[in-house]
Amino acid sequence: MNNQEAKKVIVQYARRLDAAGMVTLFEGNISMRTDEGFVITPSAFDKAYITPEDVIEMDADGNVMNPQCGRKISTEYRLHLTAFKLRPDMDACIHFHSAYATAFAVAGRSIETRGDTTAVVLFGDIPLCRYGRQRTPQIAADLEKYLPDHTGVLLENHGAMVVGPDMGRAYANALILEKTAKIAYIAGHMGGEKLLPQSEIDFLRTL
Ligand SMILES: [Zn+2]
Repeated sequence: MNNQEAKKVIVQYARRLDAAGMVTLFEGNISMRTDEGFVITPSAFDKAYITPEDVIEMDADGNVMNPQCGRKISTEYRLHLTAFKLRPDMDACIHFHSAYATAFAVAGRSIETRGDTTAVVLFGDIPLCRYGRQRTPQIAADLEKYLPDHTGVLLENHGAMVVGPDMGRAYANALILEKTAKIAYIAGHMGGEKLLPQSEIDFLRTL
C-alpha cells in the first residue's frame, strides 16, 4: 500500500478508536508500514478530526518525510518503528492507554488469558514490558523480548500496544486486549479465573 492509501486507512481507524474511547487527543497513536516507509498519527492531535493531510510520513529511521503537513511527530514513534522491525509479518500497529489494560500496566501485572477462550488463542498470554522512559530509546524496553511471539503487550506504568497484519486486525486486537483486561479484572474480583487445562488450550489453538 502506498502512503496516500495508508493515510486514509489511518484516518478511518483513528476515528473508530477515538469513538471507542481507546485513544484521546493526548494519548495513543496508530501507524502502518507502507511501500514507501511508515505513516503515523501526529502528536497531540484530536483523532476525531484527523484528515489524511494531518498524518505524518516517515522513513525507516523516523525522519519526517512530509514536514509541509505542519504536524508534530509523537516521541512514541520509536515504539512503532521497533515493532515493525521485530515483526516483518505485521503492517499495522496501535499504541493506546485504555483504562483496564493500563490498570494492569500501572499495577505492574501481566494478563492471564488461560480462562478466556478468545484471548488465549488470540494472544497467548499478554506480557508486561518493563518500564521505559518516554522520549528516550528505552521506551521500547523489553519489546525485543516479547513482541516477536506476541501480538499484544503491556507497557509498564504506561499503556499497551498491539500489532496486526493489517489495520483491521490490529484494531480488533486492541479492542479485544482491552476487553480481556476488563474481564480479568472483574473475574479477579469474583474469586479469580477458572483456568482451562493445557490440553484444552492446545485443542483450541488447532481450530
Ligand atoms: Zn503512550
